[in-house]
Amino acid sequence: MAVRDPVQAYVGLGANLGDPVATLRRALTDLQALPGLGLLRVSAWYGSAPVDATGPDYVNAVAEISTTLSAPALLAALLHQEQRAGRERPYPNAPRTLDLDLLLFGAGRICSAALTVPHPRMWARAFVLVPLAQLRPDLVPDACLAAVRSQVIWRVGPPGPTSMDVINTQAG
Ligand code: ADP
Ligand code: MG
Repeated sequence: MAVRDPVQAYVGLGANLGDPVATLRRALTDLQALPGLGLLRVSAWYGSAPVDATGPDYVNAVAEISTTLSAPALLAALLHQEQRAGRERPYPNAPRTLDLDLLLFGAGRICSAALTVPHPRMWARAFVLVPLAQLRPDLVPDACLAAVRSQVIWRVGPPGPTSMDVINTQAG
């Protein structure tokens, strides 16, 4: 079977029900355990107020990964992880135990019924752009950051882009 070249991709993580930090740590550990996926770096944790929604504040982060999975296979794995974390979708933008979004997949542009990459709403969301810019400032134009400046977002730690070793140590 042909083996794909690894692609560098970015996954947005968010949670505002249960214990969001514990859920995000678990999600990162589970991501790293997927065959054909390596976790390279993780942004700091950020707190954010819900956008176009009500409910508790979110904890968000962005993970930089390298993967030989196809984009649809990666999305399927992300949605499966959401399910395992008890994700429910009673209505759009409902509070959630875990949200995993495929933000960028290399330079890929995908428009299918089930998957759009780059994620179509990422450019309007400070909780995506701010952690992504921490990892890859070159991918986030200043004008895009300026456009979401009114959205409330704050750093809840750790202080900078973090390796999985640190995440696992903290999970103890
Ligand atoms: P949101 O994250 O925007 O609040 P949901 O998590 O409820 O929305 O996702 C709804 C659907 O969006 C998913 O079932 C998935 O099929 C689809 N989708 C399309 N493109 C993407 C993407 N790039 N990342 C994650 N989900 C996506
Ligand atoms: Mg989602």
